[in-house]
Amino acid sequence: MKKLGLLGHPVSHSMSPKIFADQFSKAGRLDLEYLTYDLPQISDFHTFTSNNPDIVALNVTIPHKESILPFISEIDEEAKAIGAVNTLFKTEGKWVGYNTDGWGFRRSMQPFLKGRHERALIFGTGGAAKAVAYSLKLLGVDYYMVSRSPNKHQDLSNVIGFNDLTPEAIKHHLLLINCTPLGMHPDTEGCVEIPWEGVGKNHLIVDLVYNPDVTTFMFMALDKGAEVMNGLDMLRLQAERSWEIWLKNGL
Ligand code: NAP
Repeated sequence: MKKLGLLGHPVSHSMSPKIFADQFSKAGRLDLEYLTYDLPQISDFHTFTSNNPDIVALNVTIPHKESILPFISEIDEEAKAIGAVNTLFKTEGKWVGYNTDGWGFRRSMQPFLKGRHERALIFGTGGAAKAVAYSLKLLGVDYYMVSRSPNKHQDLSNVIGFNDLTPEAIKHHLLLINCTPLGMHPDTEGCVEIPWEGVGKNHLIVDLVYNPDVTTFMFMALDKGAEVMNGLDMLRLQAERSWEIWLKNGL
């Protein structure tokens, strides 16, 4: 049996095991098993992989998409440009990293993007936010990343603080994307604090969180008449892309 799985902390909320169980069954791959691996400290990665030699491929999630970089041997071009990985494959005992979040985000967004969505605010500055920022650049959408502590992110361009957000700034950016874990199960009441009076029916609101289906962020936006989508399509698409990468590598 070859083992694959999702590495992160927390991981119990994830739909990835169900998505991959369906994928393995569709492909007739009874030799594959996909589990969740809760790893609070990324510094334990080498111990974790030594203790689990049957693991051949991993997805990486919150909070390790960036902090895992020093532990992998090679990184593909898109992951390098983004600065985060969410997909790993073990080749000759070495871990190679890829990023499929950006691809999943672009593919899930494209049908919803209209001409007016030319400026975006990305809430969060973590691995997912970086993949979204990279993708918006490719899609020709200008953006700011919004952080709780903008001064800590001198290495990134276009970072502002939540305190900088005025109703006018919100009105000026018709695409708002939550890339923080706020609102994720089990703390479903969490939501970014923004001047909601600036949100209206021309806004497209995207929450990368998909559990629950409709997050507090989405409820608040629906109340203002905005169009909303959660991260489920992105999750499915990034998983599809990880599967293709693993097969290409000989899984
Ligand atoms: P991460 O690397 O830990 O980054 C999360 C970012 O959110 C942090 O950099 C932080 O930015 C901000 N943040 C954290 N706690 C916050 C709080 N209490 N209030 C405001 N901002 C906060 O996590 P990630 O991997 O980017 O994932 C973020 C979320 O996206 C998770 O919920 C994850 O499940 C989801 N996600 C979904 C998909 C999908 O396919 N749908 C894919 C990737 C990620 P600052 O410190 O700068 O404020």
